[in-house]
Amino acid sequence: MAHGHEAAVSIDKFLNGEDINHRPLPAVEVVSQKMGIHEWSYDNDIALDKRYRVPTRDNVVALKDIRTEVELGYDDKLAFAEAQRCLNCDVQTVFTGQLCIECDACVDICPMDCITFTANGEEAELRTRLQAPATNVTQDLYVADNLKTGRVMVKDEDVCLHCGLCAERCPTGAWDMQKYLIEMTQAESACRSRA
Ligand code: SF4
Ligand code: SF4
Repeated sequence: MAHGHEAAVSIDKFLNGEDINHRPLPAVEVVSQKMGIHEWSYDNDIALDKRYRVPTRDNVVALKDIRTEVELGYDDKLAFAEAQRCLNCDVQTVFTGQLCIECDACVDICPMDCITFTANGEEAELRTRLQAPATNVTQDLYVADNLKTGRVMVKDEDVCLHCGLCAERCPTGAWDMQKYLIEMTQAESACRSRA
């Protein structure tokens, strides 16, 4: 037992004598994808296609030889169609309340009815009076409270398509589409230099 304990301590203080459990947090940044009033540096056209199956080799051939590769992979056409299904989850809708003139243009155009301007309230009650009631309580609401009328902007992240229509329609740039980048902690000197 004593040996096992000693070994664990020495591994925890490996190499430079630093505690491997003390690691810098990942670096995070968001970058606007705006290239013009109606143009983004990401493809925001949503495909309704279901997942494309990866083509496989015929069973008769595959079952004859265990070393035969079964999945054939996508060809260019299928790969493109599958890539078009991307929901751009790394591109976030970022709201700046000070720029908002509460014209409701984003509310009108949102295909998912996930944006609401309303009086603030307790979360459980607020969820029931959104454009589309937010019933999935495991998903947080995005609430901004710095509007000139004292109302709040509430967005149900659970159903957002990241289509960018709210940002395209907004006359003041209060909505922006921003790509989220995360850089994980690296080993060795990069880890220590970040700290
Ligand atoms: S990105 Fe699209 S789905 Fe999401 S809030 Fe804006 S308009 Fe609605
Ligand atoms: S379109 Fe822009 S200015 Fe109008 S309500 Fe939406 S965020 Fe505010």
